[in-house]
Amino acid sequence: MTTETIAKLNAVVTLRNQVSPWLMILQVVPDGWEFPDFRPGQFVSLGLSGNRPRCAAAEPERSAPPPDKLIKRAYSIASSPVNREFLEFYIALVPGGALSPRLFNLNIGDRVWLSPKATGHFVLDEARIPADADLVLVTTGSGLAPFVSMLQTHLKMETKRRIALIHGVRHSWDLGYRSIFMAMQHLRPNFTYLPVISRPTEEVVPWKGAIGHVQDVWKSGVLERAWGRRLAPDNTHVFLCGSPQMAQGMIGLLAADGFTEDTRQAPGQIHVEKYWQ
Ligand SMILES: Cc1cc2nc3c(=O)[nH]c(=O)nc-3n(C[C@H](O)[C@H](O)[C@H](O)COP(=O)(O)OP(=O)(O)OC[C@H]3O[C@@H](n4cnc5c(N)ncnc54)[C@H](O)[C@@H]3O)c2cc1C
Repeated sequence: MTTETIAKLNAVVTLRNQVSPWLMILQVVPDGWEFPDFRPGQFVSLGLSGNRPRCAAAEPERSAPPPDKLIKRAYSIASSPVNREFLEFYIALVPGGALSPRLFNLNIGDRVWLSPKATGHFVLDEARIPADADLVLVTTGSGLAPFVSMLQTHLKMETKRRIALIHGVRHSWDLGYRSIFMAMQHLRPNFTYLPVISRPTEEVVPWKGAIGHVQDVWKSGVLERAWGRRLAPDNTHVFLCGSPQMAQGMIGLLAADGFTEDTRQAPGQIHVEKYWQ
């Protein structure tokens, strides 16, 4: 790496926690500068140069990227702005991808490029979401990241609104932050945690929870029974984050119940962050 490239790597890895073979929690700290304030749900860019090694589980690259050029990708911040000590990310390995296999090879003390500020509109915007509207947060895989930040920030004692998290993964071991959400559910009567797995036959011990996809959990009516009322556009806002297939499927189901997508032009009750097209 050239001195110029090293100088660009303006943050240091302070924690690397492998959640499952394909998922990790990464904490980074800006080196010698202060990261500006951000809102739960926003994202930054992380970057590494093309000459950084890929992790062992990665697939070989079809063509090597320019060695000194930074490969940059967007990552939602999983930590809360209430905590200013580090920025946390929840990252999935895309084995044939350009950046994620290099991020998975990082160790404590390694340097990484961090964009100078956070951006994005996937936030709990008080002007668009009534204070008494219940929230359903729906996600697959590492699409959980912005919700970790939102829940750690907004789920305060005085919160009256109900919040549910529906997290879909293949295996139970892909349910990152599960123990934290179980504890939150125990401590906060207004929070409901609904994990769902799609490959129960591959479990090492029998899975006792929901099976299928997040759409199945929504359709099952389990949340309506738990909350004792119909989930409708006039009392509920839904946040979707993760794969485009999940977002598309959920938008279809919600549209049938009268929910509409929130856009700059027209306010709606469905808020979407797509990680890829
Ligand atoms: C606003 C925003 C926030 C994001 N936040 C996160 C985050 O918090 N955590 C996270 O893991 N990713 C997040 N992503 C996705 C991330 O930016 C990268 O796309 C991902 O890490 C793959 O990058 P790559 O360079 O390894 O693969 P690339 O070489 O860029 O892509 C290879 C292909 O893999 C597919 N792909 C991309 N992401 C995934 C995925 N997660 N699972 C399966 N297939 C995928 C796409 O089809 C893509 O074309 C976010 C994306 C956006 C737009």
